Formats: sequence, C-alpha cells, structure tokens
Amino acid sequence: MVVPMRASTEPAPRAVAGAPVVDIKGLSLTYEAADGPVYALSNVDLQIAEGEFVSFIGPSGCGKTTLLRVVADLEQPSGGHIRVNGVSPNEARLRRDYGFIFQAPALYPWRTIRRNVELPLEIFGISKAERRERSARQLELVNLKGFENKFPWQLSGGMQQRASIARALSFDPKLLLMDEPFGALDEIVRDHLNEQLLRLWDKTGKTVLFVTHSIPEAVFLSTKIVVMSPRPGRIIDIIDASSLGRMRDLDIRETPEFLQIAHRVREGLRAGHSYDD
Ligand code: ADP
Ligand code: MG
Repeated sequence: MVVPMRASTEPAPRAVAGAPVVDIKGLSLTYEAADGPVYALSNVDLQIAEGEFVSFIGPSGCGKTTLLRVVADLEQPSGGHIRVNGVSPNEARLRRDYGFIFQAPALYPWRTIRRNVELPLEIFGISKAERRERSARQLELVNLKGFENKFPWQLSGGMQQRASIARALSFDPKLLLMDEPFGALDEIVRDHLNEQLLRLWDKTGKTVLFVTHSIPEAVFLSTKIVVMSPRPGRIIDIIDASSLGRMRDLDIRETPEFLQIAHRVREGLRAGHSYDD
C-alpha cells in the first residue's frame, strides 16, 4: 500500500476534543453503471458532533444509503474529504467504530437470539465468557432479556430489529449507522421502538446516523435533520431540532415546536420537488 507523504508542518490526524465525529467536505460519488455514470452524491458538506442524533430524509434514490455506506467505508467517494473521529473511514472501520443496522434484521434463523448477537464477537475470536457477558448487556439494553434462547422466527418484527440493534452494539461502537431500520414495521411498533431507541441513545451517548422516509420519525428522534434533494443527492437544509430536548415522549408530536420543525422538513422536501410520483 502506498501511503502519501505528509508535509512536515501538517499535524497527524487524530481525534480532537470538540472536533466533529463525522466531517464531510465537498463529497461526491459517481457509480459507473453499465449504461453510464450515476451521480449519487454531489458536493455534500456535513459536520456531526459527538453524541448527536442525525436523521437523513429525502426521496428514494437520493443517495442516503450511499452516504451512510461512504461513512462506513463500504463505498469509496469519487471526490471530496471525509474523516471519522479524525481518521479515514477505513481506519475507523478497522477500529470497529461502526455498528450498522439495516431495514431487514438479517438474523440467522438457525441461531438463537443470543448466538446471533454474539456472532460478530465469535468471528473476532472473543472468548465465550466475554461473549456471554457482552451479549447479556446488549440484550438488556434493547429490552430483550429473557429472550436469549429463542430463535428469530419466534420473535415479532420489532423484537427482531431490537436484536439486530443489540448485535450492532456488540463491539460497543462509537457510531450507529441505521438505514431505515423501522421502515418495514407498522406505525404502533415503530412508535414504541422510537421511544426505546431514544432511551438507548440517551443512556449510551452514541452518535447516531439514521435514514428514514418518515418526517415525524425524523423530528421525534433527531437533534439534527438533514434534508436531501433528488439525485444527485445534495443537502437542501440542515435543521436543528435540539430545542425539543434530549428525552421526548410521543406526545411532543402535538406541540407547536414539533409541528414547526416538521413543517420546515416538508418545505425542504418540496423545494427539492421530491415525491413527484
Ligand atoms: P437512497 O438510499 O436514498 O434510496 P441510494 O444511495 O441507494 O439511494 O442510491 C442512490 C442512487 O445510486 C440511486 O439512483 C441508485 O440506483 C444508485 N446506485 C446505488 N448503488 C449503486 C451501484 N452499486 N451501482 C450503480 N448505481 C447505484
Ligand atoms: Mg436507501
């Protein structure tokens, strides 16, 4: 591997107190598809501070998943800069700074819930005693204590998704990347999981990047909402929702402050003339 030389005056990258956990400047990504280039992201600038809960909202195909994948080092940007905790996404991935949660829980049906949660630890050769200790802690965090020996198909969709959150937490990552994790669940279950997620976030102090299609979900959960335009994905608006406080209950959705923020998100989406189908 060729490591580019660093000018002697330039300090080595490292995490600085108060520095953004995610620092993105002028980021673009073009996929080379068979029928020509797909411009997925264009000139994205974004800073995320430690402990923030940031939601990404925008029409299908605007590059939300792509952006999360770039942060997680699963996709290489075509241009621009990105640092995660002061290092490259690759270094951050090697340090296991990430927990990734997808729309489908992706649990192995032949493994119990405990053994699903322990799988990443098993892969990295963590001892059985430590695996047990960690999986018990993570399952308790997502309120699945007592379900360790069940199989995924014995659990509801919401419980399965909680198990996949516990699995993502197994290495105690600094960042949780969640790609429409509750998109396939009905509204009542989603509401309940949103409240639980908020509590988990408050308790663990993680930085969360969360993709959603739902305006109320984005506003309810976030300290910051990033509104994106149709392809190529650009940031239209970044809305500060921290005035709603850290811990919220579902009733907050009826308050004028909440509705005002939701209105601004909707305006942003409309300005990008999204959802025209
Ligand atoms: P979103 O998550 O906002 O729905 P994506 O990030 O998945 O959007 O995709 C952004 C755009 O890039 C879409 O037009 C999609 O079809 C395209 N795309 C995603 N992955 C690839 C790929 N591997 N090759 C080519 N095009 C892709
Ligand atoms: Mg997506």
